[in-house]
Amino acid sequence: MPPTPRPETPQARYRRVVREVLQARGRLCECCGVPARHVHHIIPCSVSGIASELVFDPANLIVICNDCHMLMHPLIRRPSWTKAAKGRGIALNR
Ligand SMILES: [Zn+2]
Ligand SMILES: [Zn+2]
Repeated sequence: MPPTPRPETPQARYRRVVREVLQARGRLCECCGVPARHVHHIIPCSVSGIASELVFDPANLIVICNDCHMLMHPLIRRPSWTKAAKGRGIALNR
């Protein structure tokens, strides 16, 4: 009897899905077309739940560049925008 392969960990499975998605779609940002190496969840893990099949579903993933990715994540974006604006002496009050 062949040895049973060890079950894939969720982390390994996710890395594999990301690799496959990047390979299949050509490593270009699906928003703006520049070379990209990020993968973004359309329905975020925080909504679907970390154990959800959506986390591993290529249909729920888009290849995205760093710039576009920042726009998808207001919490990542805000501190850097605020900092950039401060550097120019502009107050962001809106
Ligand atoms: Zn982009
Ligand atoms: Zn993302």
